[in-house]
Amino acid sequence: MFDKILIANRGEIALRVVRACREMGVKSVAVHSTADADAMHVRMADEAVCIGPPSSAQSYLSFPAIISACEITGAQAIHPGYGFLSENAAFVQVVEDHDLTFIGPTAEHIRVMGDKITAKDTMKALGVPCVPGSDGGVPTLEDAKRIGAEIGYPVIIKATAGGGGRGMKVAQTESDMEQAFMSARAEGKAAFGNDEVYIEKYLTTPRHIEIQVFGDGKGNAVHLGERDCSLQRRHQKVFEEAPGPCITPELRARIGKVCADAVAKINYIGAGTIEFLFENDEFYFIEMNTRLQVEHPVTEGIFGVDLVREQLRVAAGLPMSFSQDDLKINGHSIEVRINAERLPDFAPCPGTITQYHAPGGLGVRMDSGLYDGYRIPPYYDSLIGKLIVQGRDRPEALARLARALGELIVDGVDTTIPLFHALLEEEAVQTGEYNIHWLEHWLEQNLN
Ligand code: ADP
Repeated sequence: MFDKILIANRGEIALRVVRACREMGVKSVAVHSTADADAMHVRMADEAVCIGPPSSAQSYLSFPAIISACEITGAQAIHPGYGFLSENAAFVQVVEDHDLTFIGPTAEHIRVMGDKITAKDTMKALGVPCVPGSDGGVPTLEDAKRIGAEIGYPVIIKATAGGGGRGMKVAQTESDMEQAFMSARAEGKAAFGNDEVYIEKYLTTPRHIEIQVFGDGKGNAVHLGERDCSLQRRHQKVFEEAPGPCITPELRARIGKVCADAVAKINYIGAGTIEFLFENDEFYFIEMNTRLQVEHPVTEGIFGVDLVREQLRVAAGLPMSFSQDDLKINGHSIEVRINAERLPDFAPCPGTITQYHAPGGLGVRMDSGLYDGYRIPPYYDSLIGKLIVQGRDRPEALARLARALGELIVDGVDTTIPLFHALLEEEAVQTGEYNIHWLEHWLEQNLN
């Protein structure tokens, strides 16, 4: 095992990794921008290095700053968290060139899965079911119209380099195609420097179901069931749970095996998530994320495993500490994302926390770097915490979530907490009967 690792991230995920390190007896190094000097991850890590000014490009995304911090502190490996450099193949290459270990998959796997067209081709070849659509990239509007007519409207045009819900446009009919095609290309170019797009059938009432996989890089892999992340705003998840309310043990076993076999075949190492849309009992692959996800705690909750610990183990060349047969689901877990955002428009709301009180009690986990007097800087993502609850079943988890939300106090800035109070009153949320479009409709009717 490593003696010391560096965490190339900030906020709750940096803290999450520090906690795993402490339990494993591994020393942790936090890095931070000047705007984050007072952050909790900096206080909690064993050492901290300031790596630059507030701008992410000059701090959390700076290869030389992060590599130098490793060299100064003698850290042997880098945990990237999520976002920032977690899916940057060029960074992984630089890490390896400096004889350091990247705690995550290989540069090659990140590259293949980071481009949605090659990801889809790879998954198809590995026997994973995909959304019907174009074979690869669609270069011209004429091609787009021909494919639209072939697969039938509505269709979705997606930037191959897209992510975070950007670079996707829906065409309901052929007359929308020109506008949708051009704007998906323009968004891909502007946000990701790549204007290549592809086309998929637009599924009208799917759920978002993702399978957690884990590999040791030596041809062994397991799946840790699914998470249902269907409650989304602008293609971004706000409420996640495991197991999925509509996934039977048979469906889970079937798709889980397909996913575990696929990643075993490519010698995948570390944590990964294979995302699907799920409609009429069929799974359709949309993308693979080659990192730890924001919503990983719900999986940890129902399986009782520490995924960050496993990441460190396999990165250090040790075997995984569980096999598929060891992994049994116990209860139900739900996570809600607490963002510093003002309703109804979800505008970011940085500022000073005047009072913070975290909920506690049986089955409650709060992953957050908040404290009284903390100043949320305006430069980064608005996620300030994740409240995760665990119950024996879904109704108990929902009741526990309502109770814990009632205890949670975050004063001084606007947050998404009121949204969750309101959502928990909804019958669709109580029964779990919603699809990926439900929340958008609900927000239109209830918040404007
Ligand atoms: P990103 O990389 O930006 O997260 P994804 O490909 O994972 O993009 O898609 C994000 C979300 O967009 C999905 O969870 C779903 O809500 C919607 N989406 C993507 N593809 C389709 C599709 N073919 N039909 C309907 N909705 C889709």
